[in-house]
Amino acid sequence: MEFCPKCGGMLMIEGDKAPTCAKCGYRHKGKLKLQASEKIAVPERIAVVDESKLTTYPIVEIKCPDCKHKEAYFWTMQTRSSDESETKFYKCTKCEHTWRIYR
Ligand SMILES: [Zn+2]
Ligand SMILES: [Zn+2]
Repeated sequence: MEFCPKCGGMLMIEGDKAPTCAKCGYRHKGKLKLQASEKIAVPERIAVVDESKLTTYPIVEIKCPDCKHKEAYFWTMQTRSSDESETKFYKCTKCEHTWRIYR
């Protein structure tokens, strides 16, 4: 990330254009060469995460009742009133079988 020498704002980089300050409109002279490689790397990493939203869930050690695989994604959900205990959900990382556990 590059910052504006005039106001300290973030410099916006679009394609091959000179970096421009989003706040005061300051234009950086020439291209930021280091920034170019960084710019390519970041969206790639984001794309990998977006491909599977499952990666946002933590993986726990639990036996899948379907395929006996020992790892599953885990999340909880509050059902009905807040008095009730939350329901635990598991999704097998291998066969994607989803099951829930009530307490
Ligand atoms: Zn600025
Ligand atoms: Zn499974």
